Amino acid sequence: MARRSLTTDYLVVGAGAMGMAFTDALIDHADVHVTLVDRRHVAGGHWQDAYPFVQLHQASVFYGVASTVLGHGAVQDRGPEAGLHERARQSEIRAYYDDVLHRRLLTSGRVTFLAGSEHRRDGDSHVVTSLVSGEATQVDVRRRVVDATYLSPTIPATTPPPFAVADDARVVPVNDLARLMSTPTTYVIVGSGKTATDGIVWLLANGVASDRIVWVRPRDPWMLNRAVVQPDPVVAIELAADTMAAAADAESLDDLFLRLEDAGVMLRIDQDVTPTMAKTPTLGTWELELLRTIERVVRLGHIERVTSTEIALERGSIALDPGSLVVHCAASGLQYPPVVPVWGPDLIRLQTVRVGFPCFNAALAGYVEATRDDDRERNRLCPPNHLPNDPADWARMQVRGTVAARRFGAEPDIDAWANACALNPARVEPAQRDDPGVQAVAARLSAHAEAGLARLAELGNEPLE
Ligand SMILES: Cc1cc2nc3c(=O)[nH]c(=O)nc-3n(C[C@H](O)[C@H](O)[C@H](O)COP(=O)(O)OP(=O)(O)OC[C@H]3O[C@@H](n4cnc5c(N)ncnc54)[C@H](O)[C@@H]3O)c2cc1C
Repeated sequence: MARRSLTTDYLVVGAGAMGMAFTDALIDHADVHVTLVDRRHVAGGHWQDAYPFVQLHQASVFYGVASTVLGHGAVQDRGPEAGLHERARQSEIRAYYDDVLHRRLLTSGRVTFLAGSEHRRDGDSHVVTSLVSGEATQVDVRRRVVDATYLSPTIPATTPPPFAVADDARVVPVNDLARLMSTPTTYVIVGSGKTATDGIVWLLANGVASDRIVWVRPRDPWMLNRAVVQPDPVVAIELAADTMAAAADAESLDDLFLRLEDAGVMLRIDQDVTPTMAKTPTLGTWELELLRTIERVVRLGHIERVTSTEIALERGSIALDPGSLVVHCAASGLQYPPVVPVWGPDLIRLQTVRVGFPCFNAALAGYVEATRDDDRERNRLCPPNHLPNDPADWARMQVRGTVAARRFGAEPDIDAWANACALNPARVEPAQRDDPGVQAVAARLSAHAEAGLARLAELGNEPLE
């Protein structure tokens, strides 16, 4: 088949949250053409295959692209989260990305979207092949190729369970909870992370009694209290101050997290167990109360095999009630590829820079790509970070993120851009700087920042540059 060709300034592989945020910020600050490619037929990445009851775990305004706020910036006025900012549901997230792609990026005339297409490298060339027609397009790239798949999460809908499943066993991905054809006697939720907690909260909200839920939880997780992750500068600076104050006095990593729990920052499900997992998804205290009603918790390590009658785990086995449904919530979610410079000789590999918040970080990379000429300087301003898995990773992430935020924040234009960007969880608008509440928490942060950072560096074994 003859190969088409097209020429573009940037080839961005992946139209998920990171590729979209990068492209949006880039075209806002540079007169360039971007070709965006995704094997999915729509923008939005993993949200397209997520379970239907998923919601952002943080405020909507922290998610999406810099030019277009997701949601209405509203505060919830009823329900268990009254007083906290709204969080978009899956349908809203999908519609948002569709809107941003079609009404903003494509109508700009500076973005081409190659949907349902697979990118591959062929020597020095880049080939994008339509999964529908099979037609291959050679993409000649004038400036850069951007890998916006480097942190792409794995999810249960597209990743098989990480254990053997006998032919007669009933094991389904979490998505299938919302399309049951018969009612199981018992739900066995497998996983320790955000997806498992969402599944349990959803089952309880749908009237399933807590004693019909078994929770296979290989590790106990630390989770962030949603009330301290809000688009409000007082809350944001207070979180940083609490973190540094706890770190400054912490005798160990466990002690750090226990101090953060005392400060209302971290949550754990079982007060008798010290968690070893620290991916730190965000949880509401009302969800925590529901999760604590589950008494049938299995802590026998990871599952090795599921049959119709039992589950074999690393440290023992449990019998399955007849009619049980095993629910796979055990995809790893966050990814931990090697931390490499964002601007490499061959590719821009989008990673986090400040702590967490992939959308802000990708938008920051787009802004820095557009406004700086030299890769060494870009990499100095945006050193790569990682997402956390355990408490030591979490401490390292805080150190790297703080150092990075000081570097890019010292550049007046980046500082101004970041403080106008709703995706930025540490945003302080100029008019808010003199607010007495902001000044009080900022003073508390400065009082603890240096000692806290030094101790986090020790605890995380991360050199402070
Ligand atoms: C259930 C869940 C809830 C989350 N909630 C939040 C939250 O509330 N707040 C928050 O900040 N973060 C949240 N995250 C994390 C965050 O959403 C992700 O880190 C982020 O969305 C990842 O986006 P991405 O663009 O890196 O990856 P993806 O969404 O996976 O996008 C990558 C895209 O690349 C495409 N692709 C890959 N390889 C190729 C190829 N060779 N050719 C063509 N296309 C390719 C894929 O089809 C995919 O669409 C959540 C994650 C999960 C799993």
